[in-house]
Amino acid sequence: MKILFATQNPNKVKEIQGMMPKNILLIGLAELNVVEDIPETAKTLEGNAALKAKYIWKKFQIPCFADDTGLEVETLHGEPGVRSARYAGEQKDQKKNMALLLHKLKGKTNRKAQFRTSICYIHQNQTIFFEGKVEGLILHEKRGTQGFGYDPIFMPNGFKKSFAEMRLEEKNTISHRALAFKKLIAHLQVSLS
Ligand code: IMP
Repeated sequence: MKILFATQNPNKVKEIQGMMPKNILLIGLAELNVVEDIPETAKTLEGNAALKAKYIWKKFQIPCFADDTGLEVETLHGEPGVRSARYAGEQKDQKKNMALLLHKLKGKTNRKAQFRTSICYIHQNQTIFFEGKVEGLILHEKRGTQGFGYDPIFMPNGFKKSFAEMRLEEKNTISHRALAFKKLIAHLQVSLS
C-alpha cells in the first residue's frame, strides 16, 4: 500500500520509510511533482499538520500524513512553538533562532522546555492525530555539533548531554518525532492488517 508523506524533504521520507512495515511504501511530494510550498499558517502544530495533510488529501485522495514540530519553552508560554523554524525571521537561520531564545531566557531560572511533534493522518475522510514529546531543559550555552535546529541548547530529562552531543541513533530512541511516528506506525499495523 502507498502512503503519501506531505513533505518536500526526501531525507525525512527515507528515515520514516525505514521504520515502516514492509507492506507500506512511502512517497514524498517530490515523487508526485508537487513543488509548491503548502501553507503553514495555523496557530498550532496540530493546525499546521492538518493544513498540510488536508491539502494533499484533497489533491490526490490517497492515504497521507503530515507532521509539524516545535520547541515549547514553559516560561515563554510555549514560544517559539509553531514559529520554531522562523523564530528570528523568515530566513530560518538556526543560529539566530538559538541566539534569540538564549537572549529571552537570560536571567530566567525556569529553563523547562519540550519538543513536541504532531502528525495528522488522513485516510478515507478519517482524520487522526498522533503526538510525541520529550521534556528537558534549555542550556545556558550551545553544546555539541550533531543534529540540527535547537539540538545544541536542548538537554532531555534523564541525560547529561544535549541532543547535539548524542548520536542520531540515541536521539531517535527518545525523540519527539520518533515517538510520534511510532504511534502512527502502530496504528497503521493494526488498521491495515
Ligand atoms: P519541522 O516541523 O520538523 O519542520 O520543525 C520545525 C522547526 O522545529 C525546525 O526548523 C527546527 O527549528 C525545530 N526542530 C524540529 N525538530 C527538531 C529537533 O529534533 N531538534 C532541534 N530542533 C528541531
